[in-house]
Amino acid sequence: MNNIKIGKQKHIALIAHDNKKVELVSWVKKNSEFLSKHFLCGTGTTANLITKHTGFPVKAFKSGPLGGDQQIGAGIVDGEVNFMIFFWDPLTSQPHDPDVKALLRIAVLYDIPVAMNQATADFLLTSSLMEREYDGNIINYYSNIPKDNF
Ligand code: PGA
Repeated sequence: MNNIKIGKQKHIALIAHDNKKVELVSWVKKNSEFLSKHFLCGTGTTANLITKHTGFPVKAFKSGPLGGDQQIGAGIVDGEVNFMIFFWDPLTSQPHDPDVKALLRIAVLYDIPVAMNQATADFLLTSSLMEREYDGNIINYYSNIPKDNF
């Protein structure tokens, strides 16, 4: 296992599918004081909506269906995103479902905190770990490869 440090100030990605955007924007408003201590980014439409309704600077990637989920996944791999609030819609199929699946896989692989509904987001935000650094664990993939393959 390799360690990956999540700093005191988190780099939080905010994503919501269309039917969940109102819920996420109101959750962000409700927690604005707390979230203002961290760095925020998100998929295009979600990020812009949050900025519009809260005034927060939220770095906007491309819209999810246009590759934004993949950009956030790449951000996780590069260590630029280390926390994710992703309100995905359990009742509607999405054109970019493979991207969503890939993003969730990368988030698990890189051991970052992920909330996929409001209850988990509330629990995460009130965790004492929000106030300090955290050492996540990443699998050392190369150690899994049998040496006699080379
Ligand atoms: P959006 O993308 O914020 O650009 O709507 C969200 C998503 O569907 O992944």
